[in-house]
Order: sequence, then structure tokens, then C-alpha cells
Amino acid sequence: MLTTTPFTDLSAQMTGRVVTPADPDWDGIRQVFNLTVDFRPAAIALPRDVDDVVAAIEYARANDLRVAPQATGHNAGPLGSLDDTLVVDVRELQEIDIDADARRVRVGAGVKWERVTPQLSELGLAALHGSSPDVGIAGYSLGGGMGWLARKYGLQTNSVTAIELVTADGRPARVDAEHEPDLFWALRGGNGNFGVVTAIEFAVYPAEELYAGAMFFPFERSAEVLHTWAELSPTLPDEFMSWAKLMQFPDIPDVPEPVRGRSFAIVMAAFLGSESEGQALLRPLRDLGPAMDTFAVVPPAALGDLAMDPNDPLPIASTTSLLDELPSAAVDELVSVAGPGSGSPLVMVELRQMGGALGRRSPEAGARATLAGEFVMFALGVPTDEASAASTRKYLDAVDRAVRPYRAGDYPNFVEKPADARGFFDEDTWARLRQVKALYDPTDVLKGNFHIPPAERI
Ligand SMILES: Cc1cc2nc3c(=O)[nH]c(=O)nc-3n(C[C@H](O)[C@H](O)[C@H](O)COP(=O)(O)OP(=O)(O)OC[C@H]3O[C@@H](n4cnc5c(N)ncnc54)[C@H](O)[C@@H]3O)c2cc1C
Repeated sequence: MLTTTPFTDLSAQMTGRVVTPADPDWDGIRQVFNLTVDFRPAAIALPRDVDDVVAAIEYARANDLRVAPQATGHNAGPLGSLDDTLVVDVRELQEIDIDADARRVRVGAGVKWERVTPQLSELGLAALHGSSPDVGIAGYSLGGGMGWLARKYGLQTNSVTAIELVTADGRPARVDAEHEPDLFWALRGGNGNFGVVTAIEFAVYPAEELYAGAMFFPFERSAEVLHTWAELSPTLPDEFMSWAKLMQFPDIPDVPEPVRGRSFAIVMAAFLGSESEGQALLRPLRDLGPAMDTFAVVPPAALGDLAMDPNDPLPIASTTSLLDELPSAAVDELVSVAGPGSGSPLVMVELRQMGGALGRRSPEAGARATLAGEFVMFALGVPTDEASAASTRKYLDAVDRAVRPYRAGDYPNFVEKPADARGFFDEDTWARLRQVKALYDPTDVLKGNFHIPPAERI
């Protein structure tokens, strides 16, 4: 480990900055989305171009440092100790190139979804973004990427058509299905373990408009809403993606006024189809009589804010599970531990219906080809002090226990604490990932948010 290096040599070689604990803006630069994470790498390089990334990787290698690629810091929690790590933060790589005719987009690795989806929408196109416009396209894509159109088009990572990166030996490359296909395969699911991505290219889909929105029900009606939604889910077509949530919105300015400080059971959905078909599919839920109903025919851009995710950093504690099924008993158990009268401080318990394309393996897919299970659960609290952290943990544990009998594994993008990545893949995929790692990064310079160690030499 090298703590005495002031990184001046690296600064001299880069057009962009290298920020260290000695800099006055260190605390601002090192802050990540989850305010409970005290993110303290040896230094943070902010490359402006590919040459800067090459310089940063070469410098790290020469000084026995590891390299952790990062874009927005939305999933910094799993990285663990970074004492011996140079973070290569690509936030300044901001190019955007949209080829509407080819339905292809190429973006710099620092670009967030919010900069691309409104432009695509104007062109009658939709991308496979998720709930938050503030998330980085590269990190989201390298981990999987499950959004509003996932049951129809699958994970975003399998719509990626090319990746530009600097490999662990400081070599710039553009990889795709024809060029270095093993590396291209491993990157699509292997997150930051295989190189610092500088740009990413992906397919987008025609969508002039969708039928989408949310129904808000009084929190007291959580049980009947979740039961109705769970029973309805297996009947819905792949074009219909819906999420059911128990939400207790905090009373903070980041939350939209009509829901701020209030609690609801909510069903949100996006349907790639007509209003009349969408209405027919939603009838059992609408018959319950929502207190607010925002469903309408909207352009794809409207999906950006549909989930009402926060954009500003927050203290977050969370848990997640993929679920094989969501029987009536699971709904009852969840509502009893996190619903009305439970005393739960959790801000959100979310269930997304999966299945459809998320469960179909295409031969061209990357390492994250599919996700196991029919539903994914994600729950979070926003603890502000030690007492609320303890209470949040207690209720997150109770949510875990409620769904444990149906657990089918984890979706890595939703895992926000250190975890053994072996559990995220089947045995063959894990072995192949480790082989590709041994080929491209045998000394394990690159540190992804979930560690994939190189295969041992025989
Ligand atoms: C509010 C919120 C909403 C979310 N909603 C969804 C959702 O709907 N669907 C979903 O699938 N996920 C969702 N996520 C999870 C999100 O996809 C992951 O947190 C993802 O890792 C974020 O990527 P990032 O680049 O923004 O974050 P970062 O923390 O910057 O990156 C996460 C990891 O990605 C890798 N990485 C990032 N940039 C690079 C690069 N240039 N080169 C190589 N590796 C890189 C690294 O391993 C890094 O540790 C959400 C997260 C939040 C906080």
C-alpha cells in the first residue's frame, strides 16, 4: 500500500484531476449516494478521456494500488475497504451519440439515464432504464439493469452492443460480439472487475407512447391491494411490467408534494400497448377504488419519474431477494411486518413482477443472461441516527424472514452491501467469469463492486 504518494506524478500525466484527502474538495468528491457509506479510497482520479484512464491504471499498477471504476457512486456500499485503491471515477465522460435510424445509442461511461431518455422519447424510442433517472448507464448495464420494459426486452445488459474500455494492462479496446467476445460476455454482468469502461453502446426500442402510471391506495388497504396484484400478476402479458409497493414517504422536500409525509399501498405499471387493453388488464385493481390514479397514455420520457425515486443522496439501509413465488401467505406475512399497524419505519417495500424475457436466455446474452424467480423484493429504510438504524435493521430482518421460504437468490444491482459474488451466478458462469478474469486481469488489479477473483493457475 502506498499512502505517502501525493499522486502528483499521476496528476501531471492526466488532463483531468486527481483528488486526494489533502484537497479542500475531497469530502464533496468522495461523497456517494448512500450517506451511510464512508467512502475513503487512496485517491480519486477524474479522467477526461481514454488517455487519462490509461495513465491512471498504469500509475496504480506501478504503485501497487488496485483500481475501482465508478460512475455515480450509487452502489459504492459493497466495495468495502479502499485503503489501497485508486478510484477511477468516469463522471466527466459525458458524450452522447444517438443514431435514431439504427436505434443505437453510444454514451460516455459517466452519462446518467436522465440525459438520454428524454431525447430518445422525442424520437419515439425507449431505453431499458430503471426506476431512477439519476443512475449511471454504465454501472446499471454492467450489473444487469431491470427497468420498466424488462419483461418484454430483458435486462439492459443484453441490449448492450459494444463496450469501450481500458483493460487492466492499460490497453484501450472496443469489444463486442466479434471482437474479444469472452471479455464482452464477462463485462455484461461482471461489473467493474474487467476494465474501466469509457463508453457503452446499446440498442433502444420503438415506443411512441405507453399506458403507464400509478394507483395509490390508503396504507390501511395494503393487504387487499397486494393480494389482488399478486393474483393478477401471472395473467399479465410480457408487455406489462408492474411493481407493487408499501410506501411511507418521508416528509422531505425531495418527495413530491401530494405524497410527502404520507403512506400508501401503490401499484405502478408500464404497458407497451393501448389504453383500452391496459385498462382491461388493470380492472381488478381499479375496481378496488384507488385514492389517486395517474394512469394515462404517456411518452416514454414519463417513465423516468414514475417511481418517484430520490435524486439527492440519503442514508439508506436496504435488503433484497429474488422470489420464486409470492403466495398469499407471503403477502400476509409481508403486510404484517411492514404494513399498517406494524410500526415499521421502512420507507419502501417494493415487489416487481419478473418473468417474461427476464427468464429467457438468448444465445447472445452476457454473463448476466437471466434472473431467477418470478418476483424481486427490495426494501429500504432511511435511518437518521443510531436508534432509527437499529429499528430499520430490525424491520428489514423481519421482511427477510417473511420472504425467506420463497427466496431464489439475489439480483446484484439491488445488493447494497458487501457480498460473495459467487452466489449471484450458476457454477458454469462463475467458473467462466473467473477464467476470463485470469486472462484479462490475472493479478486482480480491478476491483468491481462485487469481487470476481481470477481462476487459479493449474
Ligand atoms: C435510487 C436507485 C434506483 C435504482 N433503480 C434500479 C432499477 O430500477 N433497476 C436496476 O437494475 N437497478 C437499479 N438501481 C441499482 C443500480 O443499477 C446500481 O446501483 C448500479 O450499480 C448503479 O450504477 P452507477 O454507475 O450509477 O453506480 P456506481 O456506484 O458508480 O457503479 C456501480 C458499480 O458499477 C461498476 N462501474 C460503474 N462504472 C463503471 C465503469 N466506467 N467501468 C467499469 N465498471 C463500472 C463498478 O463495479 C461500480 O462499483 C437503483 C439504484 C438506486 C440508488
